[in-house]
Amino acid sequence: MVLLQIRNLNVYYNTIISWIKVLSDVNLDVEKGEIVGVVGESGSGKSTLGHAISRILPPNARIQGDIIIDGVNLAKLKDNELQKYRGTWVFMIFQNPLNSLNPVKKVGHQLLEAVKIRYQRDGKKVEEESLMKDVIEVLKDLRLPDPYSIIDRYPHQLSGGQVQRIVISMALLLKPKLLIADEPTSALDVTIQAQVVNLFKQLNKEINTSIIFITHDISLAYVVSDRIVVMYAGRIMEDGKVEEVLKSPMHPYTQGLVASIPTGDKNQKLTAIPGNPPSFFALPTGCKFSNRCSKVFDVCRKKEPSIIEKNGRKIRCWLYE
Ligand code: ATP
Ligand code: MG
Repeated sequence: MVLLQIRNLNVYYNTIISWIKVLSDVNLDVEKGEIVGVVGESGSGKSTLGHAISRILPPNARIQGDIIIDGVNLAKLKDNELQKYRGTWVFMIFQNPLNSLNPVKKVGHQLLEAVKIRYQRDGKKVEEESLMKDVIEVLKDLRLPDPYSIIDRYPHQLSGGQVQRIVISMALLLKPKLLIADEPTSALDVTIQAQVVNLFKQLNKEINTSIIFITHDISLAYVVSDRIVVMYAGRIMEDGKVEEVLKSPMHPYTQGLVASIPTGDKNQKLTAIPGNPPSFFALPTGCKFSNRCSKVFDVCRKKEPSIIEKNGRKIRCWLYE
């Protein structure tokens, strides 16, 4: 059953120079209980996509299209109507975790609020003692040392990795329908990273939370996700089951990303994709990847391919049209 349907999503930012279109024609379905990895180089629009779905784009952004969750079109709601859906329907772990916390409230209060909101959503009676027990339990699960001292602190009194785990614990307490995690483990030690990934998977299994896992690390996306979406210059270039995409990437861009994953073999020749992602102020005409593509031919430089479905895989490339 589908939870999230994104239809013809475009996002623009107003900059000092001009408007730029940072998301173009994004169409994406996420099933209930599905984990979708979103990968792509820096600047490809991954965070913008997360912010658009959570409806927390900055004031200089303009949005077109539909973002439908469980039948509600979030893209069409006014700011004052969104409150009901924030946190329990969609919760986003920001790339900069401090942005997810209120700087003037102690961490413990913020976590208690999160459990309360969830109890209210589920129509459960709020019993103050059990709330704190829930909070401490989650903090222990995340291996935060000395949780009783942590909850008594303000966000700025914590290390980066601790803040990140507090935000993750908020997600685990809220148990949202859709969790958007934007590079949630990049500030963490690898041992804790593994723990966090397991907790996400547990949340996903136990209460069927759907997860959009944003990362530039395609091998991490592989371990975490059921499906993988590859973004380039604000477009979805490929979308398919994670094993299939990694085993037989179809888009030359995905092929380049996959070829750059270290396998642990000392003799492996790591191949980088030549060149850099284009600027949104000067995108190539035609396919946005055409100026870096090893398989480019005439039409690619003239006309942008649309995204088509082939054997359950979606692909935006002239090679397959
Ligand atoms: P990274 O991997 O570095 O986090 P990303 O894929 O998350 O990158 P975004 O943060 O979505 O990329 O940015 C996409 C593009 O939009 C970039 O060119 C960025 O400079 C631009 N951008 C992001 N936020 C704004 C804003 N508030 N105003 C103007 N441009 C913006
Ligand atoms: Mg980002």
